[in-house]
Amino acid sequence: MRDYRRIALDRIARLMEFAKRHAVERPELAREAGKLVLRIARKARVRIPIRYKRFICRKCGTPFYIPGSFTVRVRDRRSTHVVIRCKTCGYIKRIPAIREKRAKSKTK
Ligand SMILES: [Zn+2]
Repeated sequence: MRDYRRIALDRIARLMEFAKRHAVERPELAREAGKLVLRIARKARVRIPIRYKRFICRKCGTPFYIPGSFTVRVRDRRSTHVVIRCKTCGYIKRIPAIREKRAKSKTK
């Protein structure tokens, strides 16, 4: 991996941890951190690590660590999936839940 990508991923991780830490008391700071995460990921052309990806709006950068910043619904039509909606910009993210189901039944 090229150096600048490693640095970018490192900064993304730090910013997401920062956003998590300040989400409740300083949500506006957390939002700034989230926006920065998007900018860094785009510039360095790195993917946001999966463990953070689910906690940030891909469109506006709102960290979902902020209470009440998103809504979650589980849809069971056709295939089971979770629908996450960002309350700031209205972006809708769908996460299929099939893989998780399988993983769960394996561990049983
Ligand atoms: Zn958004």
